[in-house]
Amino acid sequence: MKYLILSLFAALMLQACSSESTPKVEGDTERILTIDELDTIPLPEFKYNPDPIKLEVIERVRTTCPVCNELKAYKYVGPFYCIEEVEGICPWCIKDGSATKKYNGSTQDWSSCDSVDSHEYKYELTKRTPGYFGWQQEYWLSHCGDFCAIIDYVGWEDIEHLEQELLPDLASIKKDYNISQEELETNMKEGSMTMQGYLFQCIKCNQHRICADAL
Ligand SMILES: [Zn+2]
Ligand SMILES: [Zn+2]
Repeated sequence: MKYLILSLFAALMLQACSSESTPKVEGDTERILTIDELDTIPLPEFKYNPDPIKLEVIERVRTTCPVCNELKAYKYVGPFYCIEEVEGICPWCIKDGSATKKYNGSTQDWSSCDSVDSHEYKYELTKRTPGYFGWQQEYWLSHCGDFCAIIDYVGWEDIEHLEQELLPDLASIKKDYNISQEELETNMKEGSMTMQGYLFQCIKCNQHRICADAL
């Protein structure tokens, strides 16, 4: 009898434990965790994309990540090149490379990048870094043998004070589009932009660089 009670108790305990460890997912009758309750872990840091929220490629929104199958408070909404339609990947699965591995995808086109000193850098950029939104094909600049960090989407007003530093890049933009300095400034004017700049910064020497695309 004593044994029976003990085993009954053990069974009850087991049941209690297992129901406690069941994740709270949408559709459950249990209370769903709020976004603030989910938002407990700091976002991972990305060497080449230090502020993906500002660049609007990571949003603070509830998601059930299709890679880790966990409820998270942030999802990646930036470029993701793969065959399948993928939605709701969390930033942590971008950071550890599990998302691009699962879908055999990438976040930046392998062939639209400057050259760098190490294959590892290219892997880090295309497999483990949030991309950014270009108007056309996104291009990633490098400096000092490594990729630069993407800083922001910019118009002429944002970069005027960096003109000297950006001279070589601005010259090649003008050459590529066959435009004058005046046309460049007009095209990149906020409010009537027909050309958008993508400002980068070297992660080693802090030099700024820029590329641009047009509507
Ligand atoms: Zn995930
Ligand atoms: Zn540099």
